[in-house]
Amino acid sequence: MYPLNTPIEKLTRVGKATARYLKALGIFTVFDLIYNFPFRYEDFSHLAKIKDLKLGQIVTVRGKIILIKNRRSYRRRMYITEALIGDETGDIKVVWFNQPFLTKNLKSGDGIFISGRVDADNLLSPQFVSPSYEKINGAKSLNTAKIVPIYSLSGNLTLKQLRFLENLALGSIKLVKEWLPKNILQKNKLLSLTSALEEIHFPKNFKSLEKARYRLKFDELFLIALQSQIIRRYLAKNQAPGIEFKEKDIKNFVSSLSFQLTNDQKKAAWQILLDMQKETPMNRLLEGDVGSGKTIVVALAVLNTVLNGYQAVFMAPTEILAKQHFQTFKKLLTPRNVKIALLSGSEKSLGDSFDVPGNKLMKVIKNGRADLVIGTHALIQEKVEFNNLGLAIIDEQHRFGVEQRKKLKDKSEKLTPHFLSLTATPIPRSLALIFYGDLDLSIIREMPAGRKKIITKLVSEANRSKAYHFIRAEIKSGRQVFVICPLIDPSDKLGVKSVTDEFKKLSKQIFPDLKIGLLHGKLKAEEKDGVMREFKENKIQILVSTSVIEVGIDIPNATIMMIEGADRFGLAQLHQSRGRVGRGEHQSYCFLFTDNDSEKTAERLSALLKSNDGFRLAEYDLKFRGPGEVYGLRQSGLPDFKIASLGDIDLINLTKYEAGNFLDRYDINDFPELKVKLDEIKIIDHPE
Ligand code: ADP
Ligand code: MG
Repeated sequence: MYPLNTPIEKLTRVGKATARYLKALGIFTVFDLIYNFPFRYEDFSHLAKIKDLKLGQIVTVRGKIILIKNRRSYRRRMYITEALIGDETGDIKVVWFNQPFLTKNLKSGDGIFISGRVDADNLLSPQFVSPSYEKINGAKSLNTAKIVPIYSLSGNLTLKQLRFLENLALGSIKLVKEWLPKNILQKNKLLSLTSALEEIHFPKNFKSLEKARYRLKFDELFLIALQSQIIRRYLAKNQAPGIEFKEKDIKNFVSSLSFQLTNDQKKAAWQILLDMQKETPMNRLLEGDVGSGKTIVVALAVLNTVLNGYQAVFMAPTEILAKQHFQTFKKLLTPRNVKIALLSGSEKSLGDSFDVPGNKLMKVIKNGRADLVIGTHALIQEKVEFNNLGLAIIDEQHRFGVEQRKKLKDKSEKLTPHFLSLTATPIPRSLALIFYGDLDLSIIREMPAGRKKIITKLVSEANRSKAYHFIRAEIKSGRQVFVICPLIDPSDKLGVKSVTDEFKKLSKQIFPDLKIGLLHGKLKAEEKDGVMREFKENKIQILVSTSVIEVGIDIPNATIMMIEGADRFGLAQLHQSRGRVGRGEHQSYCFLFTDNDSEKTAERLSALLKSNDGFRLAEYDLKFRGPGEVYGLRQSGLPDFKIASLGDIDLINLTKYEAGNFLDRYDINDFPELKVKLDEIKIIDHPE
């Protein structure tokens, strides 16, 4: 029996190549194998006698090899293995292509299972074409004669190999410890964890498979629910400074703005300001589509905090964003006497608002002279201390891990600060309530008035040069262009190759006369800033970037968003990228390119042409790609479920109830296995 943490390299029949393929699937240990669930099954459980076989039927035949031989088809340039399999009722022909090694292993006289669809040969006699097969040798069959699992594969890994390894790993199943509390197991009539894990791989029948799936989904949803409620209860015990709503000053500030707040903005601001009056810490998510105007709502909360004599901190996921916020907030709040500082990995700046040099930054934060500190991860990494932190804000909250968010909250020594997270990923309210169970929600759904609709087009390859002509004309009249490229392969994590290739193409072949910029994850912070600055100042006309970089950037003069490989992105994400344009007075455009000409892709992408509502697109994504098509969800920071789905509303509610019930009645410290499990779940962290 292998210990659960045995590296896969140590397993029988796992060589270097196989290990590499397994790792590409995220499988590193025996435990990972056990938790690598099939994504579907083939039902080979129906055994039939040869004389009873019907065309088209999916069956398993148990018989003996009467004859087996290879021949070479020169015309078709391949090896063909032909066999005759017989049972007591008759015989049937079987063919396999390009597997000449079969005859080394399968000999006439061998007992064999053949599973597959009954086909017909030229003379309309039944035959099997490339069926699954398995020698009958006393060992448990894994590939035939039952419901067999189908797993995701990579490289040259075969299903047969993987099933063998899964079965091997399940030999250690006794080492997996049950962690769900007994009374929850009993009350909900759940399968034990070990049976569920065995059944999910090699189910006895579909009913037991369903029970296994139910148990494993319960696990995932219960843990999430429990985590949310623990955080909620923990926070409720803390004490926050009550921050008085200075209504007069706030109204005065609002009326000084060059625009009117939308109703949703007013409502969100109102919810936040009222919430902060309480002496339990606010823990709220402000959700609003790109361009919906979250920043000004944040500014109101900050101003109100500062007017009460407390400090605020605002953490952004990238240097570029931190800097942009710094500029924006300086403009908005310096006239109100708010002293603002910037702290990022590469830059410490006090703006113009202090009469001390930048290296005194830590000091002015500690002694409370800095009212608002804006920055990147550096805020939590470095030894930054506040005098009296009242409000902590995180931009694009899904880009930070739970730990990082917690660290920011812990910045205050005395009272717990109020906490506000921002996200531009539109997650339907019902889902957000469930998955951000620890947060209260404010949603800005309505866009500021007078915004022009972005004209979105799916551009075929045939029209590519037309699109380039159009782009050239726009640039001629002074506008700017974003080009977003997808990450092509896993080895190109930072998108260096993908954008560099595109950059070369555009600057050498298409627009050799224009200034083109390049932005990817490998650039140093100063380099990124340099490129962004030049783009902002219109010294660069076209900016080629990965999708990771673009989040949140505000360049009102950019009017064209060109997205390559659009089919590789989720709709919500495409919509977010599109939101980078249409921020100024000019008509804006979004051009989607894809070399995937399937109907499904066209249909999915066309949703983007019709709708400008990020929430609707997110719903569409959920419905048509399914929560299992994790990409969009990964981006949105929802937990990475293996088996549960966002559609399991009943189970979501049940687990939520059970989690609350459990915390009401028990002390989690008496359940060490459960605690270990809780530590394992992490909401996905996107390092820059
Ligand atoms: P996001 O929600 O994406 O962070 P921003 O806060 O950056 O959006 O706002 C986008 C732009 O819209 C900014 O230039 C901002 O000044 C402007 N804006 C915000 N609210 C309004 C409003 N109510 N009316 C008009 N313009 C607004
Ligand atoms: Mg923003």
